[in-house]
Amino acid sequence: MTQRLILASNNAGKLKEFAQLLAPIGFELHPQGEFNVPEAEEPFGTFVENALQKARHASRLTGLPALADDSGVCVNALGGAPGVVSARFAGEPKSDARNNEKLVRELAAHADKSAYYYCVLVYVRHADDPQPVIADGIWRGVIVESPRGANGFGYDPYFLIPELGKTTAELEPSEKNAISHRGQAIRALVEKLTLK
Ligand code: IMP
Repeated sequence: MTQRLILASNNAGKLKEFAQLLAPIGFELHPQGEFNVPEAEEPFGTFVENALQKARHASRLTGLPALADDSGVCVNALGGAPGVVSARFAGEPKSDARNNEKLVRELAAHADKSAYYYCVLVYVRHADDPQPVIADGIWRGVIVESPRGANGFGYDPYFLIPELGKTTAELEPSEKNAISHRGQAIRALVEKLTLK
């Protein structure tokens, strides 16, 4: 028997990627928009608190188990910024172009260009679940000054994986999913759910 699970996001790319890994363990993933769930606030200073809030919100409004993610890019020389505010680093309205321009500008004076993508996933069985299942993933790289590649989104054209000699926008989606912060987190979550 399959169990319906609400994804606290309407991002089609995430839905497809997560659904592929969750189907074999019996979950049928539905975006929260299908149930008219409005986006939750993300007021917290940590990824895990924001993801937990989104998961509880989606579960509360649908009466079903829910899965939420929160992610961002953390730059070491900038003390971990933009971090939880990655999507809106350069303010409203959110813009990848302005975010990237700001990131490159702020990093120009620093020799250390190291950064990492971080993703946390939170699964709740019901809105007040006292034991949310949490899994995360980290993907390390460096920020480059000039964009390369046309795939991906967000900071991908500026995020270089030194071992591959490619930015994450130069990877095919399947290559990225196999090693990314989000890919690592969803595989870790599946392992935890399978053990329970
Ligand atoms: P969210 O968790 O989908 O809200 O993503 C937060 C923000 O982090 C995105 O809007 C991007 O700016 C950034 N981000 C997270 N994951 C990635 C990625 O895989 N590539 C590029 N940017 C990312």
